[in-house]
Amino acid sequence: MQKQCKCGKAMIIRLRTVIYQNKVEIENVPIFSCDSCSRSEVFSEVKPDLTSLIGTLGSKPGKQLLQFQDVSEIAHLMVKVTEKKRAADPVEMIIDERINELLDLLLLAQSLQDEVWIADVRKRLSQIASRSLSTHDF
Ligand SMILES: [Zn+2]
Repeated sequence: MQKQCKCGKAMIIRLRTVIYQNKVEIENVPIFSCDSCSRSEVFSEVKPDLTSLIGTLGSKPGKQLLQFQDVSEIAHLMVKVTEKKRAADPVEMIIDERINELLDLLLLAQSLQDEVWIADVRKRLSQIASRSLSTHDF
């Protein structure tokens, strides 16, 4: 997955740790970075999730370590895809597996009538289904 940097070179997407207010470490945030001029930016697809995660921290967060893939399906998939033992598996297969996993969770959440959980699983499914995310981009 690449994007052109303002300096003209290609920016490469990687999972990185974002540090908020020197206190909160958020691991596995997809970030585009340019090796040539060191510019970096958060992958736009995950910005809303990162913003809302930071919003839940309040203005004076305590020291903590968060895993961004817990709130972002895109980060979750990127973590899976970059796991070495999965390196040989096609991305489509990993995504299909995750969709099946989420559908199972959705059935379970629905049978428990847990509205919050149902909404969470639905949100995750819609993140994966997001049209702007092509499987070929990974
Ligand atoms: Zn650059």
